[in-house]
Order: sequence, then structure tokens, then C-alpha cells
Amino acid sequence: MAYVTGSKRSSGCVFCIPAQPDRAEDEQRHIVYRGAHAFIILNLYPYNPGHLLIAPYRHTADLESLTAGESAEMMALAQRALRALRTDTGPHGYNMGMNLGSVGGAGIADHLHLHLVPRWKGDTNFMPVIGGTKVLPELLSATAARLRERLAEVEEAGE
Ligand SMILES: [Zn+2]
Repeated sequence: MAYVTGSKRSSGCVFCIPAQPDRAEDEQRHIVYRGAHAFIILNLYPYNPGHLLIAPYRHTADLESLTAGESAEMMALAQRALRALRTDTGPHGYNMGMNLGSVGGAGIADHLHLHLVPRWKGDTNFMPVIGGTKVLPELLSATAARLRERLAEVEEAGE
């Protein structure tokens, strides 16, 4: 619990969520998977369907401050997400990365998050059109519900 009580939470931060499981909160905020140190959440402004964000529970902007446990779990969650997306919509490829600092392009620079964007052949033409566009909440809820199932299946089948 040290990382929970010791972190400086920002009340307005969309990535500051309690580590305790909460089904209602998961549905409201489109959280699709919770680990011990980090979680997976849908991007509300997806570049492509299934655009996921992986973030530590701890409010930090500093990649160098991540503990070994936080770093390892973020990568493990990325692997889990890749397996879930493969069985869900079968993307042809992915973009994965972090924008550090607002100058680096981070929309929310104060709380680290890793982008995982599914890519399909030929999607480059409409990417600029839908990029940064908020999709309907009902669509997000449906995607979130489906991915929650896939992510849970991965857990059962894998490790
Ligand atoms: Zn935060």
C-alpha cells in the first residue's frame, strides 16, 4: 500500500484511480483491466478502435521514478493487451509508445501512460480524420465490455 498512500494524487487527473477493484468505476471510466501496480484503460480519444492506455496507479510524470514492479507490470500488461486484441479484432500491426512531457506531445503530461494503438492495412487514410475525435460513449462501453472479456480470457489461458 506504500505506493498508494505515498503518492501525490491530483484530483483532476483522469489516470488517478484507486487500486481497489470497483466494477462501477471500471464501467464509468472504461477501465478494462487492473493489475497490482498498473491498469489498462480505453483512450477516450482513440486514433483507432481498441486504442488502449496502460498507466501506473501512482501519479507520476517521471519514467525514471518507476519502480521495477511498476515497469515490469506495464510491459506485462502490454503483452496481455496484445494477446487480447489479437483474438478480438486481429490488428495487422501496432504502434506502442509514450509521449513524455507536453513538449513531447503528451495530452496529460503529469501522469505517465503508454499508448497501444492497433493498426490495420490502409488505416492511414482515415487516421487523421478520426484522430483526436471523441467517439460515442456507448461505443466505448461496448468496446470496453468486449475487451474486459478478452483480457480475462488471456489471464485464464496464459501464465
Ligand atoms: Zn494521476
